[in-house]
Amino acid sequence: MSHPLFDIGGQTALVTGSSRGIGLALARGLAEAGCTVVLNGRDAGRLERAAAELPGERVHTAAFDVTDGPSVAAGIADVEERVGPLDILVNNAGVQLRAPLLEFADADWHRLLDTNLTSAFLVGREAARRMTERGHGKIVNICSLQSEVVRPGIAPYAATKGALKMLTKGMCADWGPYGVQVNGLGPGYIETELTRPLVEDEEFSAWVRRRTPAGRWGRTEDLVGGVLFLVSPAADFVSGQVLYVDGGMTSVL
Ligand code: NAP
Repeated sequence: MSHPLFDIGGQTALVTGSSRGIGLALARGLAEAGCTVVLNGRDAGRLERAAAELPGERVHTAAFDVTDGPSVAAGIADVEERVGPLDILVNNAGVQLRAPLLEFADADWHRLLDTNLTSAFLVGREAARRMTERGHGKIVNICSLQSEVVRPGIAPYAATKGALKMLTKGMCADWGPYGVQVNGLGPGYIETELTRPLVEDEEFSAWVRRRTPAGRWGRTEDLVGGVLFLVSPAADFVSGQVLYVDGGMTSVL
C-alpha cells in the first residue's frame, strides 16, 4: 500500500512540451498516479497521437506555443475552463542548439532563451496567478545537469538552464507565501530526440557512460519518481530546490 503523503490522485496537471520525450514520460507517470493530465506542444496532431498512448480517460491536449505571451494566456484560460483548475504545472518544453560560441547565431540565442527560459516565466506566471489566488499549487521547472556544469558548444543552453534554476528560486520567494511550491528537476544525459545526435556519436556515448557513476545513459522513466515526489504532499515544505536525476554525474569529477 502506498503512503498517503504520495497520493496525488484526482489532481489536474499540465506538462508543457509533452508530445514526446521527457514531457510525455512525465505526463504518463502523472496519469498513472491518478492525475488528470493536459499535454502541450505546438503540433495538435502529434499531441492527439501522444494522448492516445496514455492510460485512462482523463487525458487532454492543449496546443499552444509556450514562447508567445498572448497564446500562453489564452491557452491556460482555455485549459482551466475546459479541464478544471490546475494543481500542478511542469514547465518542460525546451530545445537544444549546439554550435561553437564564436559562431553562435543571434537568432539561435534568442530561440533558446525564448523556449527554455521565457516560456517558464510566461506559463508559470499565468498558472501561478490562479494558483496563488486558490492558495495552493505545485510547479516543477525542468532544469538540467547544465544548470550547474557545461561543455564546449552549449554555452547558450547552459545559460538558459542556469537562469531557470534561479527563476525557480525567485518563483519560490514570490509565490511560496501563497501556498505554491516551486522546485526544479535536473535531468542528466537522457536518451530522447533532443540528445539523438549525442547518443549516435559512439565516442560521446562512451564518454557519458564512463563519466556517469550509474554507468549508463538515463531513460525518460528515470525522471518520473522525482517529479511525482515534488508534486506530492510529501514535498509540501520543499521549495526552491533543484533535484538532480543524473546517475550521479554532477557529484563526481
Ligand atoms: P524533446 O524530445 O525535443 O521534446 C521537446 C518537447 O517540447 C516536444 O514535445 C516539443 O513539441 C515541445 N516544444 C518545443 N518548443 C515548444 C514551444 N515553443 N511550445 C510548446 N512546446 C514546445 O526534448 P526532451 O529531451 O524531452 O527535453 C525536455 C526538457 O528536458 C527540455 O527542457 C530539455 O532542455 C530538458 N533536458 C533534457 C535532457 C536530455 O538529456 N534529453 C537533459 C536535461 C534537460 P513540438 O515541437 O511539437 O512543439
